[in-house]
Amino acid sequence: MSSSSHEWIEPGAFEVAPGVHRIPLPLPTDGLRAVNVYAIESGDGLVLVDSGWALDVARDQLEQALGTLGHDFGDIQRFLVTHMHRDHFTMAIALRRTFGAKIALGLGEQPSLQRVLAGEESGRHLEMVRWGAQTLIDGWRQTFGSRDEDDARAYYEQPDEWLDGTTKIDLGDRTLVALPTPGHTQGHVVFVDEQAGVLFAGDHVLPHITPSIGFEPAPAKLPLGDYLDSLRLVRSYPDLRLLPAHGPVAPSVHTRVDELLAHHEDRLAETLAAVRDGAGTAFDAARRLGWTRRHRRFDDLDLFNQTLATGETAAHLEVLVVRGELRSSTVDDVVEYSTA
Ligand SMILES: [Zn+2]
Repeated sequence: MSSSSHEWIEPGAFEVAPGVHRIPLPLPTDGLRAVNVYAIESGDGLVLVDSGWALDVARDQLEQALGTLGHDFGDIQRFLVTHMHRDHFTMAIALRRTFGAKIALGLGEQPSLQRVLAGEESGRHLEMVRWGAQTLIDGWRQTFGSRDEDDARAYYEQPDEWLDGTTKIDLGDRTLVALPTPGHTQGHVVFVDEQAGVLFAGDHVLPHITPSIGFEPAPAKLPLGDYLDSLRLVRSYPDLRLLPAHGPVAPSVHTRVDELLAHHEDRLAETLAAVRDGAGTAFDAARRLGWTRRHRRFDDLDLFNQTLATGETAAHLEVLVVRGELRSSTVDDVVEYSTA
């Protein structure tokens, strides 16, 4: 990749609309490279859309960026969090412990957050059984044991406010509309600012990659079906500039949504072909497909990405079942697919 494609991760605060500043923060994994937090000037203070991953290096970088705007952590009144993934939610919790800002999160995140806070084994395990992916289950046990859940509990707390349905958020001189956009996670929300002509898209619409679907502790029934509906929902709004959580700002939400819808239709066709070629389970089908933009082989992916890939494939298979193109049956807790 050229260096210019990574320019968006350079530290700082970049004004992307009047009174709206994009602040990229580092992540511990280099897959996504960085997460964008958006600071909105509101009255004497700030409202942040997403917060970053609770890491010292990210906290320092956020403090410096806010400093260039003449603000500090104490000026943050509110966090509007698009979804519960660590890179969006956990810094808000860490900062709330000291500075007391209020945190809002989509109501659909409740079941997953509940599981994390209860320290229950992630629903992912049962999902992997359904996918016919015993290899992945063994891999996770060997690599993480139960550490994953214990560690997660230290990072998470309840939000102050649950966003239930389409919600108007009055910030004094600006009004945002929170729109539930389930798919990436069940409680994902985006924030529309029609006046400023921007969409705070979280991970729902990303400019260069397709978001993972339904990677969450309490899995949804038909996450890809939800996701495609949520893409059509934001497509039904006037076209806006895209302010994504990962990647640079892009001129048109509509253009990117059309690309994502087309991508998933292609993937559905490839997934159907994999079953026609004899794949019986989600794990089998995932191993027959190419992955990432460079079409890497499944076996060359690491364990985490193999798990995401198998979950993606299962999500596509379930949509094909709902569309009547495939049949499924459950044998010994494993879902098996055949052509209808
Ligand atoms: Zn996410």
